[in-house]
Amino acid sequence: MDPRPRVVIIGSGFAGLYCARALKGAPVEVTIVDRRNHHLFQPLLYQVATAGLNPSDIAVPTRSFVRKQENLEVLLGEVAGFDLARRRVFLADGGEITYDHLVVATGATHSYFGKPEWARFAPGLKTIEDALEIRRRILVAFELAEREPDPARRDALLSFVVVGGGPTGVELAGALTEIARHTLASEFRAIDPRRARIVLLEGAPRVLPSYAPDLSEAARQQLADLGVDVRTGAMVTGIDAEGVRVGEERIASRTVLWGAGVAASPLARELGAPLDRAGRVKVEPDLTVPGHPEVHVAGDLAAAVRSDGSPVPGVAPAAIQQGRHVARDIVRGLRGEPRRPFRYVDKGILSTIGRGRAVGEVWRFHLRGVVAWLAWLLVHIFFLIGFRNRFMVILEWAWHYTTYGRGARLITDTAEQWQLVAADAERRAREAGVAPAGPEPPPTSPAARAPEAASGDRPPMVH
Ligand SMILES: Cc1cc2nc3c(=O)[nH]c(=O)nc-3n(C[C@H](O)[C@H](O)[C@H](O)COP(=O)(O)OP(=O)(O)OC[C@H]3O[C@@H](n4cnc5c(N)ncnc54)[C@H](O)[C@@H]3O)c2cc1C
Repeated sequence: MDPRPRVVIIGSGFAGLYCARALKGAPVEVTIVDRRNHHLFQPLLYQVATAGLNPSDIAVPTRSFVRKQENLEVLLGEVAGFDLARRRVFLADGGEITYDHLVVATGATHSYFGKPEWARFAPGLKTIEDALEIRRRILVAFELAEREPDPARRDALLSFVVVGGGPTGVELAGALTEIARHTLASEFRAIDPRRARIVLLEGAPRVLPSYAPDLSEAARQQLADLGVDVRTGAMVTGIDAEGVRVGEERIASRTVLWGAGVAASPLARELGAPLDRAGRVKVEPDLTVPGHPEVHVAGDLAAAVRSDGSPVPGVAPAAIQQGRHVARDIVRGLRGEPRRPFRYVDKGILSTIGRGRAVGEVWRFHLRGVVAWLAWLLVHIFFLIGFRNRFMVILEWAWHYTTYGRGARLITDTAEQWQLVAADAERRAREAGVAPAGPEPPPTSPAARAPEAASGDRPPMVH
């Protein structure tokens, strides 16, 4: 048996991966456990969701990334719970892992403010699967609009509602307008994609509420210049397959995207530690769980506070710094040195809105427009993991910048796409008083799947 202490890290996100890397060469055995086999650069997920980048441009197999770190092993598995007294991690498939030091860094998930039923109508953006689903919905909406004869239904298909005016919502709304106004502008015949309506709903009085008011206003202005209908103080009271309700108003839309709420990974509850309102673990100043100096929590899962009592933000630099801090503290502990409190070094925040449009606070400087966008571009390429990814993203963006092209526009989940078309056709038939067809065996080819209720319409154009 290896006499070296075993550090088990749950999560290969920013906090987990940077913690593991900082333990390279340390006298410990490191195990990373994640339910996905890749490290994902979440800040560029919206680019996958809006067909600008491919998934492999922003994700790296964790195993390949750390292959040269000899004191590290990578395990694929979903963690379901812990026994802190016996120092054990339980996997969902029944496996168990023992540890001397545990680092829990499982990040955050979507929160629908107590309305989980909204999730199927308004997907959020957190994983590659989410991004591909959003991409599919956006592209299919344009395809269905192309063959929709009814003007009201066509308008609903060409109306995109983004709920939440934080960085993710702002990025999505900005990218959607670029797709509609430029990328797809001349590709359709029956519709004019430039007529697409993009609505951004934010419950707070301003978009990007975590920014200084002048930067929120600059972001709102840049979104409005792009043609986004920005509504602040807009509380969403309902979401269904036909659209969104804001107070008494109903916005008919077949594509609603969620960028509003975030909650900690549910695994936090399994630690039996005190949690804050978002479900994050209230950690000690050194990021350990109260009463368990061998259990650390880092990244979005930790409710850490700065020296002035304000919360450490849930952003990638904070997760990276926390991951590295935990690694150094573990090594300090092995040397018999005292632990140190975590201090967050705030280097600023940047949010992009679109081509040449962004806002940011870097040190005390307020940036906007092209300057902010260039800063955003540099930072995002610099932090992307892997030379190949940086290279590919630079190439994609250069192409995208000069042509407005978006190369990743494939609709791949065709089964779901045809279900959607068929459901639409069935509903139309019902509304027209034609008895819906009974259940039929699944069609075998796209031609066979062309919905009969498209009668009178042009044949489907999606492939
Ligand atoms: C769309 C989007 C855009 C963003 N944009 C920015 C930005 O521009 N700038 C910025 O600084 N920050 C941004 N962020 C925030 C930033 O990505 C997070 O703060 C950061 O990823 C947190 O890192 P983490 O390691 O705590 O969690 P994550 O990076 O979320 O990693 C958590 C890991 O835990 C794994 N996991 C979860 N549960 C389990 C389980 N039960 N068992 C096993 N594994 C599990 C997950 O698979 C994942 O790999 C963005 C986030 C999103 C979603």
